[in-house]
Amino acid sequence: MIAMVESAEQEGEILKWDAEDRPLVPDTPVIPYIEGDGIGPDIWAATRDVLDAAVAAAYSGRKRIVWREVLVGKKAQTVYGEDHPLPRESLDTIRTYGIAIKGPLTTPVGGGFRSLNVALRQVLDLYACVRPVRHMPGVPSPVVHPEQVDVVIFRENTEDVYAGIEFEAGSEESDKIIELLKSFGKNPREKSAIGIKPISEVGSKRLVRMAIRYAIENNRKSVTLVHKGNIMKFTEGYFKSWGYELAKEEFRDYIVTEEETWEGDSAEGKILINDRIADSMFQQILLRPDEYDVIATPNLNGDYLSDAGAAQVGGLGLAPGANVRDDVALFEATHGTAPKYAGQDKVNPSSVLLSGVMMLEHMKWKEAAELVTHALEKTILQKKVTYDLARQLDGVDPVKASEFGDAIISNL
Ligand code: NAP
Repeated sequence: MIAMVESAEQEGEILKWDAEDRPLVPDTPVIPYIEGDGIGPDIWAATRDVLDAAVAAAYSGRKRIVWREVLVGKKAQTVYGEDHPLPRESLDTIRTYGIAIKGPLTTPVGGGFRSLNVALRQVLDLYACVRPVRHMPGVPSPVVHPEQVDVVIFRENTEDVYAGIEFEAGSEESDKIIELLKSFGKNPREKSAIGIKPISEVGSKRLVRMAIRYAIENNRKSVTLVHKGNIMKFTEGYFKSWGYELAKEEFRDYIVTEEETWEGDSAEGKILINDRIADSMFQQILLRPDEYDVIATPNLNGDYLSDAGAAQVGGLGLAPGANVRDDVALFEATHGTAPKYAGQDKVNPSSVLLSGVMMLEHMKWKEAAELVTHALEKTILQKKVTYDLARQLDGVDPVKASEFGDAIISNL
């Protein structure tokens, strides 16, 4: 059953969810968007036009997204006041509709939030950061065979040293913690700064569950647990152990572990679950990228690995991402607000556009997603590109963000 949205000025329908938290998408879903600060309006305008044109072309007008603006960041401060860059109403709207897409947000300087992006993830408990890393033909890359890279990284988003449990050197709190540690027989230096790294069974298992489900639904061949468990045995080490445990308990018929293959089990038709130590993984992704497929990893490893992966295939200007929990997915540009380019209609909209492609895939509107991907690839091969790519290609004059969007539409 799909409910109509009760609003005079708003047509469209609200998403529902099946028993396994998969979205049941109506033909005219309401999708909230956050335009973002800085270059946000430029890249969002180009993206929205392309997504609308692709959906219209793929479904001959039968399906259509009903966009609904949600205010976060500077726009929210203009309406709700300086102290409210992240209004409750906006959070409620994202929760209600279950899918949203956003441009970059300025990190407020001083007081309030450490970062609006981190706050959004924490308040909405978007526990997985999903970052596909795949090369597009024609995009300049620093490696010889970028086309061999095709991985999807699931980074845990709520725990680890990113949980924000950190105390300044010499503060009352860190001095007390040092005293406590001494009573456990540990001996940190006096007046050290202290950061805590919590990693839980629940947090680890829900992330690995999402990664394995993704691998099953998208016919991927392996899920690699990336950890530093050789050194941090009870945090990163247990991330790995809980990951294997979950895989065997919940997905026994679909998976085989690497160890089981060494003992003779076949990986034919199964998803291979293996693990790699984080430092080795950075080498592997450069040297043997075609051996990796889906990666599940704690927060800090995931942060480094997803940006390193993005660099391998052409940089952050083209890297899409989503922050997800079972019933809410927020798709977003992975770069920042690049304030020096704001309002110049200059920068590359591909990061937020490809996040839109992820969103269409999540909605099971695969035909529209494929149209956008192919048209974007074709536009790049035609060398109709924005300044960031043009400056890496000989003799290519850049086009504006809006012209880039128009070129993609004409290639749909
Ligand atoms: P940034 O906004 O990502 O910009 C750094 C540089 O990256 C730009 O100067 C530009 O390089 C390049 N770039 C970024 N986006 C691009 C695009 N779409 N097309 C082409 N090139 C692009 O990082 P920042 O200057 O460190 O951060 C600015 C603000 O954004 C800060 O307030 C930061 O907190 C915030 N931020 C937000 C997010 C988010 O919302 N997810 C993420 C990161 C940072 P060139 O100068 O070489 O042309």
